[in-house]
Amino acid sequence: MIIYKTLEEIEIMREAAQVVSRTLGLVAEHIQPGVTPLELDKIAEDYIRSQDAVPGFLGLYGCPNTLLTSVNDQVVHGLPTNTPLEDGDIVSVDCGAVYKEYYGDHAYTFQVGTVSAEKKKLLEVTYECLMLGIEESRLGNRIGDIGFVIQQHAEKNGYGVVRDLVGHGLGKTLHEEPQVPNYGRRGRGKKIKNGLTIAIEPMINMGTEKVMQLDDNWTIVTEDGKPSAHFEHDIAIIDGKPEILSTFKYIEEALAKKK
Ligand code: MG
Ligand code: MG
Repeated sequence: MIIYKTLEEIEIMREAAQVVSRTLGLVAEHIQPGVTPLELDKIAEDYIRSQDAVPGFLGLYGCPNTLLTSVNDQVVHGLPTNTPLEDGDIVSVDCGAVYKEYYGDHAYTFQVGTVSAEKKKLLEVTYECLMLGIEESRLGNRIGDIGFVIQQHAEKNGYGVVRDLVGHGLGKTLHEEPQVPNYGRRGRGKKIKNGLTIAIEPMINMGTEKVMQLDDNWTIVTEDGKPSAHFEHDIAIIDGKPEILSTFKYIEEALAKKK
């Protein structure tokens, strides 16, 4: 069952999403070669708690951390480790927070130091996939329209669209209905209506779409070992149009300062 939200609920969800946005902004400040994902995890947890919120992933499904940090061929659900990030890595940082009972859940794939042109292109295209998917999230469309445009754009660029993991409804639960696949057909799936709140999160691989899970029972990696990228925003449908509740503004500001 899809739980449609009132405007009041959406405003709380915006605040939850913005806690995550500011957390990712802090991660952007600190991310560089030599930093460990566990150090970033601690910074994120402390910040979220300072905002009258609680980490959204920690303890959920047994998750041991605040952040999920997926490096290079890791697609999503990478557990933060003590292994320092290296120049040339790309790392998806996914973060959740609960504020006044509602979840924010959003993610950005960072460049560590100087990354290859090939990886840069993967990040660019994945980001574009996210924005294209958001534009499709409007009254009159269906969930399949979102996946269709994401898949088209990724495959046009020769990339693989992960099938095994999908975007999702968001609210008082991290994963609500409907599922929001990053592939699909126009005109298929549930109708998009006002009050729908979803997390759109393309996971795009440089090579094969196929993925597998590591023995830690968390980390998802590409089957061919090629890099993968992941961007995620929280969206609400208001007056028939998509409203982005989260923002990459804090990340972009932090990254601009480092240049
Ligand atoms: Mg997420
Ligand atoms: Mg999500």
